Amino acid sequence: MPLPIDRLPTDDHTNGWSALLPARVPRPPLQGELDLDWVVVGAGYAGVAAARQLARQQPSASIALVEAGEVGENASGRNSGFAIDLPHVPSTSAQSTDQARRAIRVGRFALDELNTLVKDHRINCDWARSGRYHVAVTNETAVNVLKTYADNLEAWHEPFQWFGRKRLQERLGTDYYSAGIYTPGTYLMNPAALVRGLADSLPSQVWLFENSPIIEAELHGSAPYVRTALGRIRARKVILAVNAFSQSFGVYRKRQVPVLLFASLSPQLSESQLALLGAAPTWGLTPAHGVAGSTLRLTCDKRLMIRQGFEYSPSLRTTEARRAKAKATNLDLLRRRFPQLGNLELEHFWMGWLAVSQNHAPAFGQIADNAYAASCCNGSGIVRHTAAGMLIADLALGRKNPLIDDFLVQGTANYIPPRPLRDIGVGLRLAWDVWRGRSEK
Ligand SMILES: Cc1cc2nc3c(=O)[nH]c(=O)nc-3n(C[C@H](O)[C@H](O)[C@H](O)COP(=O)(O)OP(=O)(O)OC[C@H]3O[C@@H](n4cnc5c(N)ncnc54)[C@H](O)[C@@H]3O)c2cc1C
Repeated sequence: MPLPIDRLPTDDHTNGWSALLPARVPRPPLQGELDLDWVVVGAGYAGVAAARQLARQQPSASIALVEAGEVGENASGRNSGFAIDLPHVPSTSAQSTDQARRAIRVGRFALDELNTLVKDHRINCDWARSGRYHVAVTNETAVNVLKTYADNLEAWHEPFQWFGRKRLQERLGTDYYSAGIYTPGTYLMNPAALVRGLADSLPSQVWLFENSPIIEAELHGSAPYVRTALGRIRARKVILAVNAFSQSFGVYRKRQVPVLLFASLSPQLSESQLALLGAAPTWGLTPAHGVAGSTLRLTCDKRLMIRQGFEYSPSLRTTEARRAKAKATNLDLLRRRFPQLGNLELEHFWMGWLAVSQNHAPAFGQIADNAYAASCCNGSGIVRHTAAGMLIADLALGRKNPLIDDFLVQGTANYIPPRPLRDIGVGLRLAWDVWRGRSEK
């Protein structure tokens, strides 16, 4: 039975990263009937990587990549722009060392791919190996979380440096953090520019259709298809790469939940403001408390970026009042970190949805005879969903890639009870995490 797609992505045209870029002409929408080898739905990191991998392995195949909106206006273009090479949830179990090494192998494979593509296609996205500070606001979190993370890094034989408050202040220009761990392998970039560049450099056998929301899908049977308002693609095989929107396709409804995040960019800082910051010309930090904490950057073009807020959002919609509150919190948290900069303002404020699972594992695999899905990024999808896209293509092609087992080292997303039980369970759990981590905001 074909499924009507009940919840489509919307673009509120607020994405700060794409507002900094030159205008881009989107590819035309799908029109008419097509019969192809492959259709990939969703042009974020996962979908673009899947389409490229299919083209690489089957140079004569016909491939469509169908995107509801415009490339770069989705979560892939709205995120904080950290391509992170390492797991960053500390763990104390011995088994986790092997798991982490395998996850790192997958991460480095995807980072190598991104590095090569950025260089080969001259993707102008401020791509830089700036490293990452993983920071704690309170001494308690420094001891409970960062110390464990330092032990993990030692066990994984990954280089790192420990920074106390004073050294962090010298580097970053804020004394807000009690301690931080610097690891050198993270790349920072403008994420909208990166995903645009990746999509615009796809091989010519990939037909990219933008502004083409899929409103009906038949994923089962021998002739799967997807339909938009103006056209339909029948394909031998379908790959879904719609992350938080998987639930609309009836996929992984009991395995993942959508969460909503908020982010802001300041105007460019003046020379006199920059003189009041630290010695590092550009940097990025992630919070030791992933749910309550704030992600922060000083960008190449000298803006401060903050990402804060992490809430259960089953409707994939929010209200103006919620946005206003989140924006005020972003501004307040930025000013608290940099009181020396005077009354900092925000030039851009936006939000985006991603998907998480209860056990931090991906929702990935074959979903019907001729349909596959790579979903549930758990928050670090630039790297992980570049890998997921390439690996789901390999799985669909029947290629035996040992990295698939590494990618699934934590298993797949486990069962979450349906609504309304889920609303109570997940909503309360996240609200509790935010409350417990309130000092890490
Ligand atoms: C504010 C924020 C900050 C983040 N920071 C980071 C970070 O610093 N580093 C990091 O690695 N990750 C970060 N993330 C997570 C990261 O953005 C995601 O992991 C990543 O975008 C997932 O990629 P994806 O391709 O799976 O999904 P998406 O980017 O969500 O792409 C899915 C695509 O599917 C399309 N789609 C959905 N429904 C349909 C339909 N019916 N028809 C057609 N197309 C459809 C959507 O329009 C979308 O383009 C952040 C996310 C947010 C929101």
